[in-house]
Amino acid sequence: MMRPAAMAPEPALLHAACPVCDAAQDRVLLCLDFLAGVPAGMNLVRCRGCGTERIDPHPSPRCMADHYDDSYYQDGYLPFLARRRADFARRVLELERLAPVLHARRQGRPPRVLDVGAGVGLFVAEAQARGWQATGVEPSAAARRIAARTCSVDLASDWPSARQDLDLVTFWDVLGHVDDPRAALEQARRAVRPGGEVILKIPNFQSSWQRMLGWMSVRRRVNMLHVPTVIWRFHRHGARRLLDQCGFSLQGVRTVREPDLIPLTPRWRLVRRVTALLDAVTDNRQEMILHARAR
Ligand SMILES: [Zn+2]
Repeated sequence: MMRPAAMAPEPALLHAACPVCDAAQDRVLLCLDFLAGVPAGMNLVRCRGCGTERIDPHPSPRCMADHYDDSYYQDGYLPFLARRRADFARRVLELERLAPVLHARRQGRPPRVLDVGAGVGLFVAEAQARGWQATGVEPSAAARRIAARTCSVDLASDWPSARQDLDLVTFWDVLGHVDDPRAALEQARRAVRPGGEVILKIPNFQSSWQRMLGWMSVRRRVNMLHVPTVIWRFHRHGARRLLDQCGFSLQGVRTVREPDLIPLTPRWRLVRRVTALLDAVTDNRQEMILHARAR
């Protein structure tokens, strides 16, 4: 009797092509295994076709799930919950001015939004508090438990079944972390109604603050690049191109400064002030928020 073939185990590290242009050629910028906890042979590479950078190879989704455990949220979120929540409250107010949201208000119904990679549910909680019909999807069980406990928000573990009636899909600091950014944006396109929009917040790697973090990572051998959880490093034109390929037309980009969550030493406060000034003058602050409309 023949025995069924054993399932091959999923490799821990995966190679992937550039999600924007699929170009075959890359340039290795930096070998990353000098950083603690980073496997040998993991590189930061730049696509020769479009300039998008990525970690190669990157952890498989199953390995990545191990990074988003209780300690990830206990250490990175819970101490700063109030400040992060205030930040999301401001963002919800800003989104009230977007065309799809105004359209929903004119129709006398709540704006419908799905937050992808909702974390501990802060944005969903703030949107619900403003009367939005807000839901969130979050693959980490640890984050979902904390969301229920601290924000009284129930998050789904996976995308809801196909619907095309959402006004907005939001990705707050998420697109660089997902296994397949193109698939995520295509899913967002299927989920929004015609005229609905997607919101992306991603790091602005052209800013002097982000450049400083990269430089410090190399000089001090401290993992300020957030390897390996940040897989993809998009630049403005690459993000725009990917959005366009997934059925969205870019409506606007603005750069924003993140609030400081932890107290800084005097030297870092000075560095922070100087880089913030430079980035404000050149409108090149540390993060970018893009909004793009479904065609
Ligand atoms: Zn490329």
